[in-house]
Amino acid sequence: MAKVSLKHIYKVYDGKVKAVNDFNLEIEDKEFIVFVGPSGCGKSTTLRMVAGLEEISAGELWIGDTLCNHVEPKNRNISMVFQNYALFPNMTVYDNIAFGLKMHKVPKNEIDVKVKEAAEILGITEYLGRKPKALSGGQRQRVALGRAIVREPNVFLFDEPLSNLDAKLRAKMRTEITRLHKRLQTTFIYVTHDQVEAMTMGDRIVVMKGGYVQQIDTPQNLFRWPENKFVAGFIGTPQMNFFSATLTREKNGKVTVAAKDFTLTIPAEETYRLDETYLDGAKPVTLGIRPDDIRPVVKAKSGAEIKAKVALVEELGTQTLIYANTNEDELMQENSETAFCSSMGENPGICAGGEVIFEVNTAKLHFFDETCERTVKRRIPTVTVKCTVRNGTMEMLGAAQPLPPALGESLANGVYKTEVPAEALALSDKGYAGVIEEIDDLGKERYLYRVCCGKDRVFIIDGNLHKEGENVFVTVAADKLTFTCNGETAAEAISSVFRLNGKFLRVKEGKEKKHYFETDGVRIETPFGFNQKMYDRGRSVFKRELSLEISADKAELCGEGLPVTVENVLDYGAVKYARLRINEKSFCIPADTLPGQNACVKFDFDAVKVYDSALDMRLF
Ligand code: ADP
Repeated sequence: MAKVSLKHIYKVYDGKVKAVNDFNLEIEDKEFIVFVGPSGCGKSTTLRMVAGLEEISAGELWIGDTLCNHVEPKNRNISMVFQNYALFPNMTVYDNIAFGLKMHKVPKNEIDVKVKEAAEILGITEYLGRKPKALSGGQRQRVALGRAIVREPNVFLFDEPLSNLDAKLRAKMRTEITRLHKRLQTTFIYVTHDQVEAMTMGDRIVVMKGGYVQQIDTPQNLFRWPENKFVAGFIGTPQMNFFSATLTREKNGKVTVAAKDFTLTIPAEETYRLDETYLDGAKPVTLGIRPDDIRPVVKAKSGAEIKAKVALVEELGTQTLIYANTNEDELMQENSETAFCSSMGENPGICAGGEVIFEVNTAKLHFFDETCERTVKRRIPTVTVKCTVRNGTMEMLGAAQPLPPALGESLANGVYKTEVPAEALALSDKGYAGVIEEIDDLGKERYLYRVCCGKDRVFIIDGNLHKEGENVFVTVAADKLTFTCNGETAAEAISSVFRLNGKFLRVKEGKEKKHYFETDGVRIETPFGFNQKMYDRGRSVFKRELSLEISADKAELCGEGLPVTVENVLDYGAVKYARLRINEKSFCIPADTLPGQNACVKFDFDAVKVYDSALDMRLF
């Protein structure tokens, strides 16, 4: 039993093919994790790195409390089950299962107990005397599982173990492996390209594409809140329907969705999560509708309807799939952009060729940026509210509050669009008054509250459970807000991290060798521990273009370090920042008092993240 942590793991083949990029995951003890994605997305490579069958190019792999990057596979206390079983053909089932234990010189009587127990769990006791060739595919896979079980590993790894089985057997083995997980109470990592396997087996699923993690979440959350179009299309059968559309916020707060052949209206109360910058009627978006959320009706009560011609009806018993098209001319055309699938229970008598009205569940629509494909309807959104600045006050969320001095310098009297991320807000006993309208349980004692303040809705994360309808107060961290006026940024949120690009240097000074990080013509001496970590990455570190990511709160102004120009102090009331400059580059760090115009900045090198800029790869 063990926790497994993958920290910024990369795999680069032959110095150029990046098979896995910045893979980060904390796997809980006893968790069932599934890596899923199309062929070539890097899921097996990641699993093989955990197993120790593949070297890790960068990053850290922890199993329990041990850093395992260089631990031999046999010493990692893991068992792996492959697609091709890898059984010894000349050995009996008994000997195949016992093999690993014999190699580890486990006493014979102990082996006997373990083999029989595993055979019992897997229902293969009667085949113990047979050779693999006298077994079916499913039975062979059970023997492979038995061999993994008897070793009593901390972690089980499965690489597409069911791919060689027929559909019926696959479904049966799926439930058997889930049951096995419950019985063994051990960490499972399971690789598959089959989203149904992933959805039915995993506690959490890692969706991958092209070497990058797309999203990590529970099956329900992936289905309800896909972060991009790829995850939306990959998870769920039949697949989500996609249409090109534009969104327009109307005067009454409703949002009009205009697609090529239909228009839908979303009631105002279902639009609070939509990214306001997409509601101008100009930016194209991809509308996503799951087949369950578009259903045939006689007349749509909600008014959200789509008229379409039916191309095909599939009756699957309890489920009916209707394939339709809003454009009659493309009815039988493959890859038609106006085709969609509707899923419902019993067929009310719909036939191919008929014209049907479909009602759409507007609360469950998905929208994605047409280019980058990211969702524009986030579960935890950044909302945009109106803020009126007038003579030293900022009026938003239904109340006026004093304008912090830092904003007073950049915001003239006027009306601004203000971007408010959830992390800028907190529930408190003072601040803007509001009412809780909706509660969403994020798990691990984190709750997302939609709070109505004045006419605005904001989303706030809090660890305490409140009630719907409860009156609350909301505080706003003004340093985390971004203000725009007529499309121009007037005041930007203070970033909690900054990046410096440069090189690692070794310089001979008299008899001593010193190490520096040099950025834009200025240097800071690097400490011993940091230099060690750099040397661990090989001599090439001196040639690499590096990018250091530093948390603003881990940096401080002092007498020595990296020389900077101090521009000004930004006083946000609760927190003050110094704006610093190195040539063209400017960044902010928290600071209460200011030295003169020239100062030095020092940072905690233990907390610095180092990237290779050319490869865009984190070194540590
Ligand atoms: P998946 O398991 O998701 O199908 P893999 O992890 O096997 O994908 O492969 C990920 C990528 O790495 C693919 O593009 C594959 O071609 C590449 N790759 C895998 N093994 C090697 C190798 N030994 N040398 C070079 N490239 C490899």
